[in-house]
Amino acid sequence: MLTRFAPSLTGYLHLGHVLHMLYVWGIAQKKGAGVLCRIEDHDLSRARPEYETAIFQTLEWLGFIPDLGISGADEKPSDFRQSDCSAYYESVLQTLEQRGLVYGCECSRKQIAADQPVGAGELCYSGTCRDKGLPLVGNTVRFRTLEGETAFLDLELGEQRQIPRNQCGDFSLRDRQGQWTYQFACVCDDIRHGVDLVIRGEDILFSTARQIQLFQTLEAPVPQYFHHPLITDGAGKKLSKRQRSESITQLREAGASPEEIIGQALFSGGFIPECTGLTVNKAVVLVQQPEFCRKRG
Ligand code: GLU
Repeated sequence: MLTRFAPSLTGYLHLGHVLHMLYVWGIAQKKGAGVLCRIEDHDLSRARPEYETAIFQTLEWLGFIPDLGISGADEKPSDFRQSDCSAYYESVLQTLEQRGLVYGCECSRKQIAADQPVGAGELCYSGTCRDKGLPLVGNTVRFRTLEGETAFLDLELGEQRQIPRNQCGDFSLRDRQGQWTYQFACVCDDIRHGVDLVIRGEDILFSTARQIQLFQTLEAPVPQYFHHPLITDGAGKKLSKRQRSESITQLREAGASPEEIIGQALFSGGFIPECTGLTVNKAVVLVQQPEFCRKRG
């Protein structure tokens, strides 16, 4: 079995990522799975090389050792860094195109937003360009979502049901500037790397059915999913790299030890009652204990 640690390159890692690492390495250990490291820098406008260097330094410093994938910023090009994989994504897109499963869309985000009912959450594309026969190059490339519900059994949250057609409509695989989207790059990579266990934060739960539709359309096995809780700030909002939550790099420079950081992540995640230092080896065992699994319902 194989899972992955696949951070986006949108900022420095923070405590939320450390809790995520504990889940990834902990659940992998419990299931006898390997951990692959992949750099998700599909969003070229936000990716910065210093973020990538910091990821490898942080993993090593904390003691999380991936079993395969990319292990350093000097590995160039790499099949485990999304910005190096454009030709591969293009080939997968061609497969979908030959089967008539994608189309070009000229609608701007503003036009789509104007179409939405008041108070709608995620933008849902109504399919305006579905039958226009527009070229893919120079336009947003959209996937023809399947109708109806997609159900899956989440190892942490139990049975889940989502309807991509109603959530987001025909979602985008590549934008008009030619930049690949998270949904597409992530599924292409999980297929190519043979990932069969996806462990990630529940903030991405909403993406899972649309990703499953891509796996099924590409006739690839659908992985098992485990969506874990997140660390939230005082106001109940998830920590975000974009909100400049204190980074591990900053905490380290301020003199914190790896054990203190691990302890802080476990404490913030509700695993231990007090903020005491812990080694990675002890922490990953703790995360596996059934009594610490999320109290459902
Ligand atoms: N790259 C995503 C993130 O850092 C995770 C993607 C995934 O696990 O599917 O939030």
